[in-house]
Amino acid sequence: MAGFPKLAPEYEIVVVGGGHAGLQAGLKAALLEHTAVVLSRGPKYGRSYYAPRMDNIPGFPDAISGHNLLDLQVRALARWPEKVAYITPARVLSARRGAEGFEVELEWLARRHTVRGKALILAMGVVDRIPVVGGSIKPIFPWANLAIVDFCVFCDGHDLPGRSVGVLGDDAFAAHVALDLRHFKPSSLELLTNGRPFLEASTPEERSTLLAELEGAKIGVHSGEIVGFDGIREKRWTVKFADGSERSYDRGFSGLGWYTMNDEIPRSLGARFDPEGYVMTDSDSRVLSAESGAPIPGLYCVGDLASGWNQIPEAWATAERAVIHAYAEYL
Ligand SMILES: Cc1cc2nc3c(=O)[nH]c(=O)nc-3n(C[C@H](O)[C@H](O)[C@H](O)COP(=O)(O)OP(=O)(O)OC[C@H]3O[C@@H](n4cnc5c(N)ncnc54)[C@H](O)[C@@H]3O)c2cc1C
Repeated sequence: MAGFPKLAPEYEIVVVGGGHAGLQAGLKAALLEHTAVVLSRGPKYGRSYYAPRMDNIPGFPDAISGHNLLDLQVRALARWPEKVAYITPARVLSARRGAEGFEVELEWLARRHTVRGKALILAMGVVDRIPVVGGSIKPIFPWANLAIVDFCVFCDGHDLPGRSVGVLGDDAFAAHVALDLRHFKPSSLELLTNGRPFLEASTPEERSTLLAELEGAKIGVHSGEIVGFDGIREKRWTVKFADGSERSYDRGFSGLGWYTMNDEIPRSLGARFDPEGYVMTDSDSRVLSAESGAPIPGLYCVGDLASGWNQIPEAWATAERAVIHAYAEYL
């Protein structure tokens, strides 16, 4: 899109978040002859931006990277400038429900703006926790960018058969990730707690059950503090510890879970959440009310933020369902 797009005060559909789900929602709105705005911090803040190779994307038999796919989705949106505005880098600060629809406050080009929409689609995704090494999250990025360290069981588990795997994390979630990864038949699995006590927040019952399961599965736990990584030329994940020792794996895996579930805006709009913290929706991607359990009129949640399976084809499908429902019901 040449130059800055214009931000109108009102659209039929306002989409918050411009990852795979939000971009698809914007495209579908345009194709159904509705006006829409996609408000996004930008592709590089999406979960897949640093995924170098995605194997499950229909139409790409030789795989595609996350950022290439995002670029293609942005290009598809740019074909419909009369219908959909793509506003980035923008940060949505709040959303409010009124009699006529929704009012969304955002920051764009160092100024605050307000847009209104008859329907509001929340597509903010969730954000992975990144290991902190030497006070910084940067050290892991070169390994993550080459898919030597992975973050998503459904996306990358198939790369693990016959490989030694180090799993980052110190809590029950990490223990479950390590146990789940057995399905892909790695040659070995080891948990790395990065200096933190293992299963500290677990109840004694949970701790003893998990320790027994890990022992039965021959999954060891190493609690050394991590001070750096090495081995990138050999395409290995070599982990350096504070005591001067090293351990080397074919692959690393994150069992660290989420840094944020982006729940502030859906919570302020009265959304119901599942036990893992995802927004609950019906099969049309309508957000369910925390109070009544009924769908909140005009409010949708799509992609990773919605209770589901955190995969791109699902992000697209939920976006399509939301926009088709809004087209049929509200607009
Ligand atoms: C390393 C890795 C590899 C992966 N590989 C695969 C794979 O091979 N196949 C697959 O199907 N899936 C894969 N995934 C999962 C996939 O990335 C997600 O399912 C997908 O990105 C979800 O899309 P989304 O639009 O819901 O969220 P995202 O893509 O995360 O996009 C959300 C967007 O909303 C923006 N946003 C959030 N809050 C605000 C706000 N307040 N204001 C403005 N903008 C906001 C964010 O900045 C971001 O740009 C992978 C994930 C990771 C981390």
